[in-house]
Amino acid sequence: MIESGTLFIVATPIGNLEDITHRALRILGEVDLVAAEDTRHSQKLLQHYSIATRLISLHDHNEAQRSKQLIEKLTQGENIALISDAGTPLISDPGYGFVNQCRMAGIKVVPLPGPCAAITALCAAGLATDKFKFEGFLPVKAMAKQQALQKLLVETMTTVFYESPRRVVDTVKQVITELGSEREMVLAKELTKTFETFHSGTAQACLNWLEADTNHQRGEFVLMVAGEKPNQSEVPAEAINLLKLLMNELPLKKASAITAEQFGLKKNQLYQLGLEL
Ligand code: SAM
Repeated sequence: MIESGTLFIVATPIGNLEDITHRALRILGEVDLVAAEDTRHSQKLLQHYSIATRLISLHDHNEAQRSKQLIEKLTQGENIALISDAGTPLISDPGYGFVNQCRMAGIKVVPLPGPCAAITALCAAGLATDKFKFEGFLPVKAMAKQQALQKLLVETMTTVFYESPRRVVDTVKQVITELGSEREMVLAKELTKTFETFHSGTAQACLNWLEADTNHQRGEFVLMVAGEKPNQSEVPAEAINLLKLLMNELPLKKASAITAEQFGLKKNQLYQLGLEL
């Protein structure tokens, strides 16, 4: 039994149709209406699971007007599920305005977790996951894209991007221009699908792989850029030794703070170095 007047945010598969939760299927079947980015696309998913709930469109071009209409229905006690073409709604997909207005109107919003390309890619890429930055799609305009990539010069976290097959080669070329050919990166392609591929290496090696075969450029991509590594050569060997010793006895934060003070170095630099060690 679901509480009436609830909006459910339902994650759907990013390729493999088996990647949908029991709860998602139950809710999609029980709500009065499913708001979808592209109703024809989502009809196939519902049909696959023999779900007969009525679909209504909610996309970038009608979100403002459609939100009002759907909020009225929710206020009258109808239950609605929001889905996107793939993955988690609102993550580089429509729905933010709608959810924001529902919250402001005091409507209950319930998330149903499930696939998200960024997290799916990150958890198998082999790059640091303790902290990461999700940037969605890079800007299309050259100058804005260049500026967005330049920020990664000093970024120590893994950065995750979504990228279209049309732009992936150009983007990797720009990574090389802005961050150097040696920056480590991972291309995750066609996740959860038959031709799922992870390709990792330096930016130059990734470009070579993409250019070696046009088939490598086809499909949907998540592009992950490794964080900038602190320059170990700037840290004297004595400081590295002290840090190592202290790390055996103390939390890293404390060990890096003491070493930094002792050698007049930056705490953050030693902390990053400690994480690597
Ligand atoms: N809301 C979705 C999510 O939760 O991941 C993302 C939607 S965004 C419009 C679409 C982008 O996500 C694609 O251009 C691609 O970068 C990435 N993507 C979606 N499915 C993917 C897959 N199966 N493999 C790799 N990347 C995927």
